[in-house]
Amino acid sequence: LEIVGVPIFNERTQLRGAVLVLYDISELKKLEVMRKDFVANVSHELKTPMTSIKGFAETLLDGAMDDPEALQEFLKIIYDESNRLQFLIDDLLTLSRLENDGFKISAEKVKLAALVQEIEPLIRHKAEKKEIRLTVEVEEEAEAVFDRERIKQVMINLLDNAINYTPEGGDVKLRVQVDSELIMQVEDTGIGIEEEAIPRLFERFYRVDKARSRNTGGTGLGLAIVKHIVELHKGNIKLHSVPGEGSVFTINIPGKR
Ligand code: ADP
Repeated sequence: LEIVGVPIFNERTQLRGAVLVLYDISELKKLEVMRKDFVANVSHELKTPMTSIKGFAETLLDGAMDDPEALQEFLKIIYDESNRLQFLIDDLLTLSRLENDGFKISAEKVKLAALVQEIEPLIRHKAEKKEIRLTVEVEEEAEAVFDRERIKQVMINLLDNAINYTPEGGDVKLRVQVDSELIMQVEDTGIGIEEEAIPRLFERFYRVDKARSRNTGGTGLGLAIVKHIVELHKGNIKLHSVPGEGSVFTINIPGKR
């Protein structure tokens, strides 16, 4: 709480009273702490792959290059870590654009079957590598009005997670439906999420299991991006999850057919 006081005098400069203004700065303080946390998190996330790239490049220059096996292995690490950096920077830029006050979604009428067809091969390829069965249910004629590229990103992020957090041999389903609103559902038979973790899940860089997220190449920003896009569409996102059994993410986007 911040207090600012001003004395009040009458015409003969006698003190008559005072005005006290009480500012509630707890919200501001909270935002400031969040901003500092974010900068610290970004720096840490950038530093980890950078350190690794630099370290392996140095080792190669110091002579490891003469061993063809080491050369191959270290170059692969350098390549993977550069990719991680690139994903991180892409996600950061996406988030920063979405958070910009002036950002507006560009809504258009979209055929959902066509949209799903664009992402399906990529997702199916990823699922097959883990022997995960992917099922897609989308009505042939379904149409809705929304920002095509952003909603596509939402589907990719949710499906990506569903595959990342589902063990080999599991199932992942995408259901898309339009009645009075657009409903997208991504269901998996994966590791699930503890109830305590759910309130923080959509925060930037929050991960239930840091090591696992890193191994899957996750940036920790996927769900924060999803949440932003859904909010920009005035929609909502619900999560039902049972640890050890799986998760269902359901998104509703209001709008006409
Ligand atoms: P990440 O890049 O780490 O996947 P996200 O923002 O996409 O970042 O997700 C945040 C965290 O939520 C993940 O690290 C993971 O712990 C958890 N999570 C997301 N989707 C699922 C899912 N389908 N099943 C289990 N856990 C999930």
